[in-house]
Amino acid sequence: MKIEKDTVVQFHYVLREGDRELESTRDGDPMAYLHGHGNIIAGLEQAMAGRQAGEQFSVTVPPEQGYGQRRDNASQRIPLKHLQGAKKWRPGMVAWVRTEQGTRQVTVVKVGKFNADCDLNHPLAGKSLGFEVEVVSVRPASAEEVAHGHAHGVGGHHH
Ligand code: ZN
Repeated sequence: MKIEKDTVVQFHYVLREGDRELESTRDGDPMAYLHGHGNIIAGLEQAMAGRQAGEQFSVTVPPEQGYGQRRDNASQRIPLKHLQGAKKWRPGMVAWVRTEQGTRQVTVVKVGKFNADCDLNHPLAGKSLGFEVEVVSVRPASAEEVAHGHAHGVGGHHH
């Protein structure tokens, strides 16, 4: 079947910025997402539409269809206990922070005793992202997945 709204897609990807490899699923499970719900960046989701299992393709996603442009003055002081992903923080490290809009990535700029100054820009903001994608499987989403707005199972969401 083809990728369309309310299908669950498993795919492998390699993400590059220029020649630099930033992320890859090749050494592990493929990633899974529920198509048509904005769960992956817009430029990649658009490129996925209509593809089938076994297809391979490359796509370059500009910042406006990716993680947006970098904003200046996007710094915020965050209590260390709210930063997730490491025990000790150093400038340049990427942390996860839970917000009302969901979990987001921030970059630690300066670390104090109880707080860290963090850059709220997504680490990939302002970048053109090159994806090499292999579609592994496409299946209809379950009613539960559609209700939750995300994929379950391998590579997807676990409760
Ligand atoms: Zn769920």
